[in-house]
Amino acid sequence: MQKPKGTYDVYGKYGENIQYLEKLLSALMEKYHYEFVRTPIFEASSLFHRGVGETTDIVSKETYDFKDRGNRDMTLRPEGTAGVVRSFIENKLYTRANMPVKTWYYGPMFRYERPQAGRFREFYQFGVEVFGSESAMMDAEVISIPVTFFRLLGLKGIKVKINSLGDKETRENYREALKKHFAPYLEDLCSDCRERFEKNPLRILDCKVDKEKECMVHAPKLSDYLSETAKAHFKEVQQYLDALNIEYEIDEHLVRGLDYYTYTVFEVEADIKDFGSNNVLCAGGRYNHLVENLDGPSTPGVGFALGYERILNAIEAEQIKLDNENQVDAYIIPLSEHEKTDAFQLTQTLRMNGFTVETDYLNRNLKGNFKQADRLNTKFVILIGENEMKDHIYTIKNNQTKEEYQIDQDYIVMFLDEKLEETVLEEEHSCCHGDHHCDGKNHCQCHHEHE
Ligand code: ATP
Ligand code: MG
Repeated sequence: MQKPKGTYDVYGKYGENIQYLEKLLSALMEKYHYEFVRTPIFEASSLFHRGVGETTDIVSKETYDFKDRGNRDMTLRPEGTAGVVRSFIENKLYTRANMPVKTWYYGPMFRYERPQAGRFREFYQFGVEVFGSESAMMDAEVISIPVTFFRLLGLKGIKVKINSLGDKETRENYREALKKHFAPYLEDLCSDCRERFEKNPLRILDCKVDKEKECMVHAPKLSDYLSETAKAHFKEVQQYLDALNIEYEIDEHLVRGLDYYTYTVFEVEADIKDFGSNNVLCAGGRYNHLVENLDGPSTPGVGFALGYERILNAIEAEQIKLDNENQVDAYIIPLSEHEKTDAFQLTQTLRMNGFTVETDYLNRNLKGNFKQADRLNTKFVILIGENEMKDHIYTIKNNQTKEEYQIDQDYIVMFLDEKLEETVLEEEHSCCHGDHHCDGKNHCQCHHEHE
C-alpha cells in the first residue's frame, strides 16, 4: 500500500518542525489578538464556485469533487477563505459589537495539481481573515503577520510584493484596456491566456508562460486606472508598512489568481538562491465584496494564507536550525523487576510536575538503559534499586557530566527544577561566551547571533 500521489506522511524531525511552526503561529496570533476558527474540510461545491470564482485555476481544474451518499455535490476545500466567510455569515458574526472580527485558521487544503517541490495535492495552510474594517492599517497589519513570523523564524531571504487592484470601477476600466491591448497579440499568447482573454483578462498578467513576452511587458499599467479613493488607500497602506519598517516592492503585474480581490493584493516570496519556481510563500489581499457575493451583508475583508511546506523548504534552504531540540529531562531506570512499578509511578509523578520523562518499556539491562537514555538525549538518569526503595534516597546522574547525586524522594522535584535551570543558563552563556550581560533567565541580551 502506498500513499496517494501528491501527499506526504509526517514523522520524526518534520513533525517536530511543524509543531514548532504551529506553536509560534499560535503564540503570534495571541499577541495580535486574533480568534481561532475551524471550518469543515468539505463544503458544498457551490461555495467554492461562487466564493473563489469559476474562472480560477483552483475551481476550474484543481478541485477534489465528490458526491456524498445523499447525492449532494461536495468539494474538499482547496483554500480557507470561502469556508471562513461562509461561517462568518452563517453564524452571524457580523452582528457582533466588537468589530473588526479578526480570525485565524490552519489545516489541510486539497488541490489536484501536478506534484513537485513545494506543490502537493494535500498541503497545509495557515491563514487569517479579518472582517469589518476598510482601514489601510488593517491591510498593513495583515501583511505584517507573515513578515513578523518569518523574522521570528530567522528567515532572511524574503521579498514582499504589493499592488492595488482598485475598486470595481478600476477593474472594469482596466479590463477593457487590457482587452484592447491584447486583442492583436492573441496568436502569440499561450492557450490558457487566450481563454483568460475571454473570461478574465486581468489574469493574463499572472501568466508564468508568457511573462517575458513583448506584449506583456508593454501592457497598460493598472496604476493608470486606479480611482482617487483606490490611490489614496494604496498610499496609506504603504505609509503604514513604512511605519512598521517593512520593506516592500510594488509589482504592477501582481494580480493574484483569485477573483475576489479588491484594493490591496500582496505576496511574500522566498528570495533564496536555487529555491525553485514555487517560491511564493504566502499570498493575500483585500476582498470588499466577497461577503456580499456569498449573500451576507456588505462587509469589507482582508486576509492571507501561507503554505507550511514552502516555509519548511525555505528554512532548510537557509540552513536555519529551529530551536526545538527534543530532549528528555529524566529517564527512570528500575534496577530489577521489583522496582518496575515504582519506576513507572515516579515517571508519572515527575511528568505531572512538568518534566519530560521516559522509562524502560523493553526490560533492558542497565547498560542497555543507559544507551537508550543517550539516544533520547536525556539530561538526568534516575536509578531505582532495592536500597533506594528502602531508604527513599535515589541516585540521580547528570547524563552529560556524569556527576552523581543521592537525593531524598521528597526533594527530587526541587532538585530537578534547580539543576535543569542551571543547564539552561549554561547553554545561554555559551552563546555569548559570557562576555556580555545575560539577563540570567530567559534570553541572552547580547544581541549577537546565537550560535
Ligand atoms: P501558486 O501560484 O504557487 O500555485 P497560488 O496562487 O495557487 O500559488 P494561493 O491559493 O494564494 O496560492 O495559496 C497561498 C499559499 O499556499 C501559496 O503561497 C503557497 O505557499 C501555498 N500553496 C498553494 N498551493 C499549494 C500546493 N499545491 N502545495 C503546497 N503549497 C501550496
Ligand atoms: Mg496555484
